[in-house]
Order: sequence, then structure tokens, then C-alpha cells
Amino acid sequence: MHPLITRIGDAVLGTDRKVRLRVTLAMIAFYGYSISSMLLLFAIDIGLVKRGPGLWLLVYMWAGMITFYTLVRTDWSSRLGNPGMDLPQCLYATVAILWAYLISGEVRSSVLMLVALVLVFGMFSLKAREVLTLGIFTVASLGVIMTGMVLSDPQMDPRMEFIRFVLAAGTLPAVSGVAYYVSKMRNRLQEQKSELAHALDLLQEIASRDELTRLVNRRHMQQRIEQEASMQLRSGEPFCLALIDLDHFKRVNDQHGHAVGDQVLKEFADAALQALRKTDILARWGGEEFLLLLPNEQPGSAQAALARIADCLRAHQHTPGASGLPVTFSAGLTDHPAGEPLHETLERADQALYCAKDQGRNRTVMRTAAHTPEPNTLADARQV
Ligand code: GH3
Ligand code: MG
Ligand code: MG
Repeated sequence: MHPLITRIGDAVLGTDRKVRLRVTLAMIAFYGYSISSMLLLFAIDIGLVKRGPGLWLLVYMWAGMITFYTLVRTDWSSRLGNPGMDLPQCLYATVAILWAYLISGEVRSSVLMLVALVLVFGMFSLKAREVLTLGIFTVASLGVIMTGMVLSDPQMDPRMEFIRFVLAAGTLPAVSGVAYYVSKMRNRLQEQKSELAHALDLLQEIASRDELTRLVNRRHMQQRIEQEASMQLRSGEPFCLALIDLDHFKRVNDQHGHAVGDQVLKEFADAALQALRKTDILARWGGEEFLLLLPNEQPGSAQAALARIADCLRAHQHTPGASGLPVTFSAGLTDHPAGEPLHETLERADQALYCAKDQGRNRTVMRTAAHTPEPNTLADARQV
């Protein structure tokens, strides 16, 4: 589309998707009012409608149109608690039509069909209850106006007005009924849409979490570290990975049973999360093995984070409800240099973990990419 047309469209309708939709609906009303205004001017010109009441009706229509457009376009309508201003717009238009009926003399029967048009408009924007309100308001107001006209004008044929009223009062409930049904269907579709979105969120949550510890699972973590690695290519920010493995965990299972083993895994996850920053991510990598991602972290400070986890784990053992078992872990810590394949980084962390186990467990061994010392010179960070 031509950029100028796009710019005009944005200026008239707005750029926010929701506001744009509401303004578009208000613009449909604008179209209806414009045609009616032209017809009204013509009717005044040929003497079918009296100038005074006709011009007042024009003022009423344009004042309403400008007010509703301004309210919806600026989104002030949201502050008034009615973003689309749908029911007020429909009621306003119905009043305009009834007013036109009152002043349009012989052609008033044709004006009546516009009432059904408002209901059709409402079908796509109003709630079911509002459609009923609009239908009842229309029939009742029509009854009052017709009775008033018959009583105030002796030349008016009450039988003709009666026929018109019965026709309108008989047709409008049918149109209202359809409008009510359509808006119910629309609401149901809307509900289903949000239920589906909710279910999708839930599925995504289930698919990315480990059921036992509630930590993110291996699949999600794999995606997360790939993301971190590609972000690092642009930002150059360092990040570290630590592979953590609980020490002699098999013994926990053998001596206390699998359920206690599960409890210990949960306790480890809780304690570790308490010790970590919000931006750090801990995943259950498999069995009693965890992978920790420390964004924007140099290996030195990452080591401190692992020491904090060990402290928290010790403190957690003494909290009420905890298993009370003295659980320790070994960790292999490494950094990820930009551009290195992730499997190489993970391999290095695994080797460091192996060294930590080899050196007697309950410690963190760091093996950086730049400096991979011989195992006997590795940083020994005993956690007790
Ligand atoms: P090391 O210090 O060398 O790591 O010794 P370890 O006993 O921890 O190592 P090993 O790999 O031999 O044993 C791991 C155990 O973890 C074996 C397995 O039964 C247990 N395990 C793995 N997943 C779970 C789980 O979800 N729940 C429980 N309770 N145990 C698990
Ligand atoms: Mg283990
Ligand atoms: Mg293991």
C-alpha cells in the first residue's frame, strides 16, 4: 500500500490493533450517518421535513459521531470502562432513527428499517444482554412515540400506526433474537480462544518443567543455552556453565528409599534456587545431575555462586520438614567463549566434574576455555 495511504489510515484509525478495530466499527456508523445526513438535507430541501427539527437532528447526529469517534480513537473510552462504546453508540443511533421517524412525515415507514440495521451492527459488537436491552429499548420507545403521535395529531390514522407498530414490534424481537444468538456464539468463541491460550501456556509450562523438582528440564535448558550463546555473539557478554552432580546419591536411595531420594532432589533444587540470582537458570539435566547457567558471569564469581548453593544446602538440612540428610554435591564449572560449539563447553564442564569426583567430591573444579590446567593444579574449591 502507498505509504501516504498507510499514514492517513494510521492517523484516522490509530496504530494500536484493538483501538483500530473499535475505530473501524465507529467508522461504519460514520458511513451510516453520512448517508442519512445527505438524505435528510435532501428531504429538508424538498420540504418533506421541516427545516428546524431537521437541522437539529443533523446537529445531534454529527455531535454524537464526533464525540464517539474522539472517545474511541483517543482510548478515553477505556477509562470510562467501555472501550468500544458499543451499547451507547447503538442507543444513540436508535434515538436518531426514532427522532427521524417522528419528523419524516409520509416516508417514516422507510426510516423504521434502519432500526434493524442498528441491531445487526450490535450483533457483532454487543454482549448478548446488551442486544436484549437494545431490542427492548427500541420496541418500547417506538410504542411510546407512536402513541404520542396518534394522541397529539388528530389527522394521524391510529390504524396505520398500529399496523406499523405491530410490524416493527413483531420483526424486531426476531432480529434481536438472532443478534442475541450471534453475540452468544461470539462470546463462546472468545471464551474458547482464551481457554485455548491458557491451555497452551499450561502445556508449554509442562513441556519445559521437570515434574519432580519444578526446575526447567533438559530440553528447555538446551534451547536456553543455545539462545544465550547466540546472544553472546552479538553482545560479547560472558556466561558460565556448571554441571552439578549429587555425591553418593545412590546410597541415599539404597539406605532411605527412593521416596526420600526424591525428597532430597527437591530440597537440593529449593536450596539452590534460594542461593541463585533471578537471572541464573538451574535445570534438571537428568537423574541427580543439574546444569547451571550463569549469564554475565566470569568463572571467578560463578565459583562463589556454587559455594553459596553449598551453604544454602547445609542450612536447608536443618529446616523443619527437611530430610536432614547431609547431602553434598560436586560441580564442574566452565566458561563459554563466543563461537565455541556448545557440546565442547559441556564436555569441558563434564571433565571438570569428573575431576571434582576424582579429587574426593564435595567441591567445585573450574576448567576455563583459555586455561585448561593439568588436573593436579585445578582450582580446588572444597565446599566444607
Ligand atoms: P557419585 O558421587 O559418583 O555421583 O555417586 P552416585 O551414587 O550419585 O552416582 P550414580 O550415578 O552411581 O547414582 C545415581 C543415582 O541416582 C542412581 C539412581 O537411582 C538415582 N536417581 C536418578 N534419578 C533419580 C530420581 O529421580 N529419584 C531418585 N530417588 N533417584 C534417582
Ligand atoms: Mg551422583
Ligand atoms: Mg550422576
